[in-house]
Amino acid sequence: MTTSSLLILGRGSDPASERGVSCPGELPPASDPTLVERARVAKAALGDRLFVLGHHYQRDEVIQFADVTGDSFKLAQEAAARPDAPYIVFCGVHFMAESADILTTPDQRVVLPDLAAGCSMADMATYDQVEECWEVLEDAGIADDVVPVTYMNSSADIKAFVGRHGGTVCTSSNARRALEWAYSKGSKVLFLPDQHLGRNTAVLEMGLSLDDCVVYGPNRPGGGLSTAELRDASMILWRGHCSVHGRFSLDSVEDVRARIPGVNVLVHPECRHEVVRAADEVGSTEYIIRAIEQAPSGSAWAVGTELNLVKRLAARHPDKTIAFLDKTVCFCSTMNRIDLPHLVWSLESLAGGEVVNQITVDEETARYARAALDQMLALP
Ligand code: SF4
Repeated sequence: MTTSSLLILGRGSDPASERGVSCPGELPPASDPTLVERARVAKAALGDRLFVLGHHYQRDEVIQFADVTGDSFKLAQEAAARPDAPYIVFCGVHFMAESADILTTPDQRVVLPDLAAGCSMADMATYDQVEECWEVLEDAGIADDVVPVTYMNSSADIKAFVGRHGGTVCTSSNARRALEWAYSKGSKVLFLPDQHLGRNTAVLEMGLSLDDCVVYGPNRPGGGLSTAELRDASMILWRGHCSVHGRFSLDSVEDVRARIPGVNVLVHPECRHEVVRAADEVGSTEYIIRAIEQAPSGSAWAVGTELNLVKRLAARHPDKTIAFLDKTVCFCSTMNRIDLPHLVWSLESLAGGEVVNQITVDEETARYARAALDQMLALP
């Protein structure tokens, strides 16, 4: 895990994080009472030249300016569907802006309002580490049997690695289909970078056992696994996780059931295996939103996902009891780095003719990453 979460919002830098660098230029102070009006004016001045994407985990102060909201994949698709907008402002985290850049035309500029908005999960798998892992698989004599699958929440480098090795990207909505496809191509899968999504999908949806899964630790020699363990495994999980969803524990589930009688526990598949097993329902961010929308009035829900979204769902559905699964309040600190001052700064810069914080993926990386993304789109 990187230390970016410890930086004061919008200031400073974390060179070890995924592209974490300090924010250039003068940010308006957060206390400026005209920020909302300034954002409105800059957005209006840019008109159809601007398309603002807002991830579900963004703050309300930012999401109010989004032209469309969604999960990471939906937003990348939305960006690709708007080739007439020269400026795409991505209110989300770095890997999402990269995917948008890969899927949009070369003339379009993708802007991330704060370059330090990385993702601790994506940071847990670097290109060099994954290359080294592949060498370990080659030395074990199994690389030819392995199909790599990476979660959307990974850097463009990792998506390109997967594309180069004939694998696919997946999201939390299509992970099962991606794994079924991968097992039709090879007898083993290397799943990057979220061990929990990989394990939950393999064991709970595809009938693999926990013994079929091993965890490759990138900071240990040989991943911490013996050749025999690698040869016996069907699922090689990367030791990565989401620092937000990984916080929920079995205790959180038991505690909320005691506090709210009759509560339905609804969690994201990035949660730990025992949490997902103990929950009533599991599903992607879009699934969670739909489930709450369709739930009967008066029902009670404890939701295990990012807090900005849970709070928004609670505000949107006052006829239902909607609680955060954990007693401890925990936002995604990197998602939260995109705040109103950064949005105003990027919009006003664009309106003034200056493109700031542009995210670009080099051509070769983009080509292979697109191959992995296209493979996902072609999943049966
Ligand atoms: S919620 Fe988790 S996976 Fe999503 S951006 Fe934050 S750290 Fe990354």
